[in-house]
Amino acid sequence: MTIHPHGTEHPKFPQPQSQTPTQCQRTPKLFDFEYGDCNRKARELEAARRACSRCPLAADCLLWALVNKNLTPVGIIAGTTPRQRTKLRDRLAARLGPDWIDVLADQDQAQHTRAVTPDCAA
Ligand code: SF4
Repeated sequence: MTIHPHGTEHPKFPQPQSQTPTQCQRTPKLFDFEYGDCNRKARELEAARRACSRCPLAADCLLWALVNKNLTPVGIIAGTTPRQRTKLRDRLAARLGPDWIDVLADQDQAQHTRAVTPDCAA
């Protein structure tokens, strides 16, 4: 994946890490999608999407890419194009409001708290 070098990462949504190199780390050129070069890019786009569909980081990677818009203006990330990520951000804003990133951060924190709190009802 291509990361914009001048962006700042959201502190609550750091880039997911893997013990082993992901496909986008092994073959970054495949993920450097740009619009306009139709046939060749269509094949590369599909290959990158297939790689992302098998990646164990895909869900976290997509969330990271959506939240960290300034770091992810280009390239295939979690199987999405920049245009698709823009549409997904718009949908999140429509569903959760203009502070959708904070809402997601709160949901993430609540989920984490539930995961570490013992279930007393059992
Ligand atoms: S899901 Fe994310 S980390 Fe995994 S290969 Fe795709 S772009 Fe890379």
